Amino acid sequence: MTANKSLLLLPGDGIGPEVMAQVVRVCDWLAAKRSIAFDLTEDLVGGCAYDAHGKPLADATLKTARKVDAVLLGAVGGPQYDQLDFAVRPEAGLLALRKERGLFANLRPAMVFPALADASTLKREVVEGLDIMIVRELTGGVYFGEPRGIFPLDDGQEKGVNTQAYTTSEIRRVAEVAFDLARKRAGRVCSVEKANVMESGRLWRKVVTATHAAGFTDVGLSHMYADNCAMQLVRDPKQFDVIVTDNLFGDMLSDEAAMLTGSLGMLPSASLGAGDETGRRPALYEPVHGSAPDIAGQGIANPIAMILSFAMCLRYSFGLGEEADLVEGAVARVLDRGIRTGDIMAEGCTRVGTGGMGDAILAELDLAVA
Ligand code: NAD
Repeated sequence: MTANKSLLLLPGDGIGPEVMAQVVRVCDWLAAKRSIAFDLTEDLVGGCAYDAHGKPLADATLKTARKVDAVLLGAVGGPQYDQLDFAVRPEAGLLALRKERGLFANLRPAMVFPALADASTLKREVVEGLDIMIVRELTGGVYFGEPRGIFPLDDGQEKGVNTQAYTTSEIRRVAEVAFDLARKRAGRVCSVEKANVMESGRLWRKVVTATHAAGFTDVGLSHMYADNCAMQLVRDPKQFDVIVTDNLFGDMLSDEAAMLTGSLGMLPSASLGAGDETGRRPALYEPVHGSAPDIAGQGIANPIAMILSFAMCLRYSFGLGEEADLVEGAVARVLDRGIRTGDIMAEGCTRVGTGGMGDAILAELDLAVA
């Protein structure tokens, strides 16, 4: 066995525990078939943590999160918590985790498995085989810039103010994440801003260009204005490999790219912080979807977004690219065979529940190494 890799599992609320259970099965498979052992610790986050401790992220949980190699999160929230104060709502647990770990780079891949190309609103030929990664700056920009507020004016009106601001180091570190990622992918980064009309965009372009020249000239770099990028994503999304952009544009462009894939139950994500002297980065991996209270407890949730989030963890936190390929390949073949959960069901396919999808993925993993 290789040295153990530590993971904190935070299944959370609603369908979170159901989909996380399938990741545990994949971990067990990796231990049994690939001699890769994980130290798994499980804890509460979100509504279930509020029920147990009166807050959505207990101090002890945060302490564990600081120690482990990576955190895997299911989903948080539910209607029973909607009336709580914002500070103790389930989402506050997630925000606290992101803030405390300094997770400044949000990675949102948009992949279209050939078997699901018809689920997209775009034509099959435009999206089939799509594999792009959007790197969104997560802790700076207009959502956090000062001054901010709604201020009274002398003439009786009010003025709403937000400030778009980025420093050199904030831009450089997220650009470095994007270039690093591109090296593990097709080797191309497109940096997106509005340098034509915004000073923060001009600085963004200057710093990304300098970061590239200083250490990443093996990666291709292009620049694009955000409005053009929004158009290109629906015109010809396969032209992109890695897109790096700020918090506001990334918020919108990553949702736009997500819709190209046609299904929420398929979308993984990762959030990364600054590396230590060994290069190890704090990391949180989670599906894009929420706790889906409408289907929780029924055993019908699609576990693929959660399993693909774990595949990202294998690739980016543990350098286990081969194992990540194995897991992603198994998912693709299960879909090729027409095995579907309800959310991605199509005519002529076989409907399975959460556990059935887990069974099918494990069976494909077995076949892949037989
Ligand atoms: P949602 O993503 O939970 O659900 C939207 C729709 O997609 C629902 O019909 C749901 O059944 C379906 N769906 C989502 N994931 C699925 C899966 N894996 N398999 C099959 N179907 C799936 O979004 P919502 O309904 O707007 O929010 C529900 C709760 O989740 C709210 O409390 C919200 O605040 C919370 N939320 C949490 C996160 C997070 O934890 N990161 C993200 C979004 C929403």
